[in-house]
Amino acid sequence: MEGWWSQSPETSFTETQMAPPDRSSYSEFYRRSIEDPDGFWGEQAALIDWQTRPARICDDSNPPFTRWFVGGTTNLCHNAVDRHLAARAGQPALICVSSETDSERVYTFRQLHDEVQRAAAMLQTLGVNKGDRVLIYMPMIAEAAFAMLACARIGAVHSVVFGGFASVSLASRIEDAQPTVIVSADAGSRAGKVVPYKPLLDEAIRLSTHKPAAVLLVDRGLAPMERTAGRDHDWAALSGQHAGVQVPCEWLQATDISYTIYTSGTTGRPKGVQRDVGGYAVALAASMKHIFLCEPGETYFSTSDIGWVVGHSYIVYGPLIAGMATIMYEGLPIRPDPGVWWSLVEKYRVSAMFSAPTAVRVLKKQDPAFLKKYDLSSLKALFLAGEPLDEPTARWISEGLDVPIIDNYWQTESGWPILTIANGVERQASKFGSPGVPMYGYKVKILHESTGEELTRPNEKGVVVIEGPTPPGFMQTVWRDDERFVNTYWKSIPGRLVYSTFDWGIRDEDGYYYILGRTDDVINVAGHRLGTREIEESISSHPNVAEVAVVGVADPLKGQVAMAFVVARDTSALADEASKLRLEGEIMKQVDEQLGAIARPARVRFVTLLPKTRSGKLLRRAIQAVCEGRDAGDLTTIEDPSALQQIRELLAG
Ligand code: AMP
Repeated sequence: MEGWWSQSPETSFTETQMAPPDRSSYSEFYRRSIEDPDGFWGEQAALIDWQTRPARICDDSNPPFTRWFVGGTTNLCHNAVDRHLAARAGQPALICVSSETDSERVYTFRQLHDEVQRAAAMLQTLGVNKGDRVLIYMPMIAEAAFAMLACARIGAVHSVVFGGFASVSLASRIEDAQPTVIVSADAGSRAGKVVPYKPLLDEAIRLSTHKPAAVLLVDRGLAPMERTAGRDHDWAALSGQHAGVQVPCEWLQATDISYTIYTSGTTGRPKGVQRDVGGYAVALAASMKHIFLCEPGETYFSTSDIGWVVGHSYIVYGPLIAGMATIMYEGLPIRPDPGVWWSLVEKYRVSAMFSAPTAVRVLKKQDPAFLKKYDLSSLKALFLAGEPLDEPTARWISEGLDVPIIDNYWQTESGWPILTIANGVERQASKFGSPGVPMYGYKVKILHESTGEELTRPNEKGVVVIEGPTPPGFMQTVWRDDERFVNTYWKSIPGRLVYSTFDWGIRDEDGYYYILGRTDDVINVAGHRLGTREIEESISSHPNVAEVAVVGVADPLKGQVAMAFVVARDTSALADEASKLRLEGEIMKQVDEQLGAIARPARVRFVTLLPKTRSGKLLRRAIQAVCEGRDAGDLTTIEDPSALQQIRELLAG
């Protein structure tokens, strides 16, 4: 390829390609990223291929919107696939393993290149043009990655929706993204049980006022599919028509949109986190080197799902951009036995692994001998993120694997770690309980939640915020809603234009941060972020629900679980324990059907009134405290204290 900074992947990740940062000191590396962002990120930009050189590195002339690598043109798919053909066409790129269907398939970079071009041609045939949206609602199969990369190739905006979401969740995302095409499959599979997708998709399309022009369906032969004539197309059949097709990469502006991904917040309406092309590519390439210690030709294994941001950044784009093989795994960590992940580490010589604390807590309940059964000598580190990493879990896995355990804190919005240890720059100690220190490019501060004053003394608790300009890879805005982006994220602290993470935190005397939970109504179940409002809305639509409050309650395995407290309309439905259980089951089933099983509350309990302030605001935090056996805090504004007493008695009973 002709173009500026074009280089072979062999050399692009070596230190000689970079103006030598002071490798002896992370603090110096960090300082430069903050004081000289243009110089710093201009150098990092050499980690990827560009077609046209950016005219400007960082444009923050319109805060809080930051534009990176303005005037540069590049392509994520080129950087993830095509660019590696020269040096590693025959090397594994995508390794798809399903312990659900007992299948394993390895695609080399050459084969991936072919498949992605076919997928791109299919999308084009179905009417997808640059800038159009393609919604991907799929299980963890190769075609999901082909579809994502195909979108990136032709400049379509993908919006992957987690396969565990059900029709109402999916419908709201279809409504917002307005996709030209939806790519899906007959079914996923979980714990050996087939989970049909197509009926949920059909129902979601029925519920949405926006209708896609076409639906492209992978038939895995797991569940029968009803097809809508003229709209539904078969992946295998259409792909067959495009054998050997060549679809060149569309050179996109660095500031064009690569994808949107929906995430929960304080309202019931999910936000479409929008990301760019060039900044994202550079941020991922830099993180693979400085944080994840990766080299081309190695294998990366992230156990996440393509429906989450980790799946975007560290199953699909990050490892491939770095010229690595990436493992895409469908299944549980304990099936067929609790050694399944470690067997993959041995077989594919995995060098970096990325998972979530909940998965480790699941493994911790199994026979520890499984950790010792396989040769894990290729593994350099295990990275964990998505929820707080508790010390016993960290210690158990660290001793079991005998590799460093690297906690990293980030959000869907950031796209890559905000806090961790950049061991690729300088080896530094991790501290149990702390994800680490601010990553290069992130101006992290702790502010007082109501005065906006910066809290500089060690261990003072406040809101963790990020000052602009936000680094490359960070969300550009909320899809089609700049106002919501500014008002939701940047105006929550009085008098300050700063990005709020909506997490409480402290910083210790050594500069290490500790995350102490959310400041908003978001809960974190097994590393998955859920909005309590979304769950409340689903429960409220049950005919016998007058009022509901959902709170997140600490859980030893999942971190948090959702607990629902419901005031029933017809109390005769609560005459005895059996009827209460029946109604509880009905409500849970409804959440399953509307939002998906991940949003299902652990329990639905019935009360005659909910704790509220005199102005009618639900006291969710007080309910949560009571559920966790803590002091309910300041209750001077409560309308009727007996409401909390009822919950106490219910739980005691
Ligand atoms: P998500 O956008 O789904 O990735 O969720 C982001 C939220 O998960 C953060 O705002 C935190 O509340 C939580 N989180 C993510 N990583 C960590 C971590 N390493 N330690 C503590 N909390 C975390």
